[in-house]
Amino acid sequence: MTYQKEVDKRRTFAIISHPDAGKTTITEKVLLFGNALQTAGTVKGKKSGQHAKSDWMEMEKERGISVTTSVMQFPYGDNLVNLLDTPGHEDFSEDTYRTLTAVDSCLMVIDSAKGVEARTIKLMEVTRLRTTPIITFMNKLDRDIRDPLELLDEVEDVLNIKCAPITWPIGMGKEFKGVYHLLRDETILYQTGQGHTIQDSKVIKGLDNPELDEAIGSYAEELREMLELVQGASHEFDQEEFLRGELTPVFFGTALGNFGVDHMLDGLTEWAPKPQARQTHDREVSSEESKFTGFIFKIQANMDPKHRDRIAFCRIVSGKYEKGMKLHQPRIGKDVRISDAVTFLAGDRSVLEEAYAGDIIGLHNHGTIQIGDTFTSGEKLQFTGIPNFAPELFKRIRLRDPLKQKQLLKGLIQLSEEGAVQVFRPLINNDLIVGAVGVLQFDVVVARLKAEYNVDALYEHVNVTTARWVSAKEQKHLDELRRKSEVNLALDGGDNLTYIAPTMVNLSITQERHPDVTFHQTREH
Ligand code: GDP
Repeated sequence: MTYQKEVDKRRTFAIISHPDAGKTTITEKVLLFGNALQTAGTVKGKKSGQHAKSDWMEMEKERGISVTTSVMQFPYGDNLVNLLDTPGHEDFSEDTYRTLTAVDSCLMVIDSAKGVEARTIKLMEVTRLRTTPIITFMNKLDRDIRDPLELLDEVEDVLNIKCAPITWPIGMGKEFKGVYHLLRDETILYQTGQGHTIQDSKVIKGLDNPELDEAIGSYAEELREMLELVQGASHEFDQEEFLRGELTPVFFGTALGNFGVDHMLDGLTEWAPKPQARQTHDREVSSEESKFTGFIFKIQANMDPKHRDRIAFCRIVSGKYEKGMKLHQPRIGKDVRISDAVTFLAGDRSVLEEAYAGDIIGLHNHGTIQIGDTFTSGEKLQFTGIPNFAPELFKRIRLRDPLKQKQLLKGLIQLSEEGAVQVFRPLINNDLIVGAVGVLQFDVVVARLKAEYNVDALYEHVNVTTARWVSAKEQKHLDELRRKSEVNLALDGGDNLTYIAPTMVNLSITQERHPDVTFHQTREH
């Protein structure tokens, strides 16, 4: 197959949703269709002992939330689909944000009993930063849901995107009969008890087909009337508007009952964009270019306790990865030979022979790779738009056993490479301060330090309210800041100078006094 054909068949997407809308369940069913799992596992949760394969960490199992991002690749029809899992909990929004820079489209999953929820609104804002096309799945039709037309109205009003229903539900809850596919002009009947396997579905061609009346009785006539209303009240699917992020195709179904997920996947593979271009400081890089480029959007420590290593997730923007190839890392100006990149097939890793634009590869990181790093075939490029955010919560971290200071520092620096937390080392003392965007991350850090580095740590209050990375055109301005405010200066995990402010007032006074120093709220890598 030619390079371009390989690239064109790829679809790289992530799921955005409010917690409990059904992201994990739909991921399992998607993988089932991709033949990645023979029998879709039981959804994670306190009740069941089984967990979705994408959720592999102890922490996740205990809490029943996804803390990490993993990548799953599977074939669907003639396409090759990459699904990037995003952490669902609010505290991990930074991680989610960066994952969304690595996809070309998103699936929005909505709990049809609830409608548009807070987290979905936030995530949609993030997808707008890069105009990501959105596909919508209205989930949980096997329950009593809200009026479907009202749901579409809510999406249009609250999320400011036009809705084009592709399927339309017939009944709901115990009376859920199936969906009518508006583009294929066929009714697909719902059968219960098929959640774990793929079975042939019963399809009735044509809306006026008497078989439909036989199959679903009075619902058939209701459907015909309803559709006239729907077609008048909603939008028709338009590929261009979809690609511009102005319109979303909407599918109805139940992830738990494994119904409708395949309709959605058909739409996704047909309409979602092939691997898209990405911006660098100098120029845009298109997936049609045959030379390798890619960027790191995520670093995950110790994914497999047996391997005890760190994996840097690289989104390939252009070209092809081949085992043993040499890649250039412009930030440190070095070439590295990559012979053991990994891919993740539903959580199992295998050594990869080749990968193309649109794919995600995992590079073993021995401390030289950072989030935001670019890899090329030699060209000096830097992809933009993958920031670190200044943390908003701070705690001093202390050891129960003071002899393990070195392990603690090593663990903290490695965990901070992942970008979920940041570690600050004040210039004037040996404190270690952990900064996070959300509360839950503090617990995750202590749990992982224990599990992965065998150190017992605890937190203490620290008088820090906010942090800013500092830079200046001339070194003398930084020296001046250091002379006046050394107590508030620290180095982060990557040795970048940071101002850690006890109060916002302190920060603004310092900013006024040092007009030649820039205080950055995000750090572009
Ligand atoms: P996540 O938090 O978005 O990953 O949501 P989960 O996939 O874990 O689902 C949350 C809960 O909703 C679980 O108890 C699921 O079994 C349930 N659920 C998911 N999809 C459906 C569905 O289609 N119908 C019903 N009735 N329950 C569902």
